[in-house]
Amino acid sequence: MTRKRVLVLGGNFGGLTAALAVKHELHGDVDVRVVSASDRVLFNPSLIWLPFGKRKAEDITFELADTFDEHDVDFVHGEATRLDLAAKQVETTKGTFDYDYLVIATGYRNNFDAVPGLREGNASTITTLPDAIKAGEAWRRFLDDPGDVVIGASQGAGCFGAAYEYLFNVSYQLKKAGLKKQVKLSYVSAEPFLGHFGIGGLPHGESLLGMFLKKEKITPYLNVGMRHVDDGQLVLDDDTKLDFKYAMIIPPFVGQDVVKAVAEIADDKGYVRVRDTYQTEEYDDVYAVGIAAAVDVPWQTPTPVGVPKTGFPTEQQAHVAAKNIAAQIRGEQPREHKAFGEIPAVCVMDAGNNGVIILADHMLPPRKHGVLIPGPQAHAMKLAFEKYFLWKSKHGYVNLP
Ligand SMILES: Cc1cc2nc3c(=O)[nH]c(=O)nc-3n(C[C@H](O)[C@H](O)[C@H](O)COP(=O)(O)OP(=O)(O)OC[C@H]3O[C@@H](n4cnc5c(N)ncnc54)[C@H](O)[C@@H]3O)c2cc1C
Repeated sequence: MTRKRVLVLGGNFGGLTAALAVKHELHGDVDVRVVSASDRVLFNPSLIWLPFGKRKAEDITFELADTFDEHDVDFVHGEATRLDLAAKQVETTKGTFDYDYLVIATGYRNNFDAVPGLREGNASTITTLPDAIKAGEAWRRFLDDPGDVVIGASQGAGCFGAAYEYLFNVSYQLKKAGLKKQVKLSYVSAEPFLGHFGIGGLPHGESLLGMFLKKEKITPYLNVGMRHVDDGQLVLDDDTKLDFKYAMIIPPFVGQDVVKAVAEIADDKGYVRVRDTYQTEEYDDVYAVGIAAAVDVPWQTPTPVGVPKTGFPTEQQAHVAAKNIAAQIRGEQPREHKAFGEIPAVCVMDAGNNGVIILADHMLPPRKHGVLIPGPQAHAMKLAFEKYFLWKSKHGYVNLP
């Protein structure tokens, strides 16, 4: 019998985990191919440190080819350009590939259209490696000619954790540079209240974040959209004008255009509608995991907020998908289920030399438990986790926690 072919699009948290996990589930008895636009894994959570020179690109990335080679996974450094799901075929910049099972793990791209002026580079962002490198160049120019600073997350953004981390890291760096007293530091967010995080908040989160902002003398502007950002000024929907010498704004994310083009599986943001098995609603043999998978925002806020699709749920989804593909290949029904909202929230928010550990039994309410643990151990934990994640992923030990 010919071996089944699993094709994975994307090679970061979701794609790497799904590809290696499915290989492992079937003890190698499956052909797995990964097509990824990037030839490297990027540990995105460390992008918050890159602009300050605390990390270089090579510290937080590694090449995929060696890892996949070691685990007998075929790696193609290329970009998927067209999905033909009826024909079970994907066109890429490196040729056309047939599959028996497809996993879409193509993640996000920035939606700069959300705030006019972002595309023109009037404010920095840190959500991709090239963006974070540019944010570092802007930071160094700022240090030569300092002034007020604005950090924020726009309407529709979901990655609030990164906005808070960058805010507190900026505050820490300002202190180190002796600039803290002369700089007004503002935080602008679509969140309805401090510590909402796009997950509805956690017990005592609002008061804890409020305390942090007060201690760091940061002025919050909450529950407000950004109308436009000009060179040196951010204009909010309520007409507030914030002048700045340095600004970093987290935009909303959307899915990749190649996915959005397949209207039968994608929503209007280009995310794939999935069941809790991570199979698409339409195709039993097509899966989507990580940021590429759609999540319904379970609330309406006055200013729209997205849901943060973080690393832990991404890896969990990839394992669920891998187990279900393995079951299908063995001729069984997919039995693993784990809805996004029911996956535990496990996150560390870094604050320069301090931080907060965030733990909850469910990503989204209703929850039984949720706790925020502040202190310097959170910073140490993020440092350790970065090293652990890169080591674990590089060696392909995706079954480790
Ligand atoms: C600044 C920042 C900080 C973060 N901090 C944290 C944190 O502290 N903790 C946490 O848990 N999570 C954090 N996250 C979220 C975490 O990075 C994501 O959960 C994770 O990256 C999702 O992985 P993914 O594989 O779904 O998508 P991605 O990481 O977006 O990977 C998608 C992959 O697909 C590839 N690709 C794209 N288009 C194509 C195509 N057409 N064909 C083939 N390949 C394609 C890309 O090159 C990429 O390799 C952070 C994210 C950011 C941006």
